[in-house]
Amino acid sequence: MNLAERDQRVIWHPFTQQKNSLPPIPIVKGQGSLLIAEDGSSYIDAISSWWVNLHGHAHPYIAEKIYQQALQLEQVIFAGFTHEPAVQLAERLLPVLPGSIARVFFSDNGSTSTEVALKMAIQYWWNNDQPQRKKILAFTNSYHGDTFGAMSVSDRSVFTLAFHDHLFEVIFIDTPTQENIKELKNRIDSHSHEIAAFIYEPLIQGAGGIKMYDPLLLNELLYSAKNNGIICIADEVMTGFYRTGQFFASEYMDQKPDIICLSKGLTGGTMALGITACTNAIYQAYVTEDKYKTFFHGHSFTANPLACTAALASLDLLEKELCIEQIKWITRENENFALKLHSGEFKIKNLRTLGTILAFELDNGKDEYLNTISTVFTHKAIAKGIYLRPLGNTVYLMPPYCITLEELSKIYTCIETILGELLTEC
Ligand SMILES: *Cc1c(COP(=O)(O)O)cnc(C)c1O
Repeated sequence: MNLAERDQRVIWHPFTQQKNSLPPIPIVKGQGSLLIAEDGSSYIDAISSWWVNLHGHAHPYIAEKIYQQALQLEQVIFAGFTHEPAVQLAERLLPVLPGSIARVFFSDNGSTSTEVALKMAIQYWWNNDQPQRKKILAFTNSYHGDTFGAMSVSDRSVFTLAFHDHLFEVIFIDTPTQENIKELKNRIDSHSHEIAAFIYEPLIQGAGGIKMYDPLLLNELLYSAKNNGIICIADEVMTGFYRTGQFFASEYMDQKPDIICLSKGLTGGTMALGITACTNAIYQAYVTEDKYKTFFHGHSFTANPLACTAALASLDLLEKELCIEQIKWITRENENFALKLHSGEFKIKNLRTLGTILAFELDNGKDEYLNTISTVFTHKAIAKGIYLRPLGNTVYLMPPYCITLEELSKIYTCIETILGELLTEC
């Protein structure tokens, strides 16, 4: 039995309808932007393996650091103990996080980082004897993870259908436009007495279809929220670490978050780690003689030393001139490619780019997530040695920063070719 066959007997894959699913592709090695399969074929990882990878796969510098740390200390309970990688990571991140973030709380993935943020914000008001402030404000079409709290503040969608009765009530507002901004601000004002926090994916709603919205309008909303005392939680799990061109997407706005959630690219995409960092004002609500006001939350692998070490190594690489140059030219190439696509005859709409991200929708008249165009597109791309995984009819690019011009051009050509084929087939 080969690996794919063995897999199909024992494994249940994420976000996958197992019935009639094609055999998974066994990957035996990663190198730079490439995923190398058991049969020797290779695929350019055009979506950074679900948006996590920044510097390429199996990066020798990060690998070496993890190895050295593994020989030193692989894991230790983080209550009552501490270690160098965790402290150093907090010391290095705090000065570069947007606004005046002062404390770092660790967990181990993006969903837990948002769960922690929600609990932190709700208990902040409880600790401050204002328990009536307990509702969360969130955007329609948002995605903040798959655990129950994270699902609750995410849009009600095909992802959450079976659980709607179990999700807590959330005040949903649309992302801001020139037309609705006034109404959104009014809704915030009228509910402010009961809202604990506002959670948002700054500038780009990722899993909701790489939907982009205006920084100036988001800034207005944040101003409104802050004016009403609402805690602002920036979920930068996807947008962090230069994805949008700035170190953090929150840098595009004057109004800064009170809490920021990080994961995905945090370790360069090598290990699971989550961070929820907050201002001193929030932290101080927990520093009291009253034991009931403790933040009773933690995970077995909180601040795992190997993961923290990977994050430090990733920061080293991000600080290099070369990395910044890469991000700049990827941005430029994407913009040029967008112009080219725009002037083509293809059936696409809502073409958009920000930083290293490019997205557009296939205009086949069907918008729903479960339509088959995604599968068709994915298979066509795989056959050409490119790994793309459209979200419904939204095709997008989010390459690792180490990608070469040749590889990026190959992706562009692949997209144009497939779009051409779809013109004649559909
Ligand atoms: C992916 C993602 C999450 C969830 O992270 P996981 O590590 O997959 O649990 C949360 N928020 C945003 C914005 C994300 O893109």
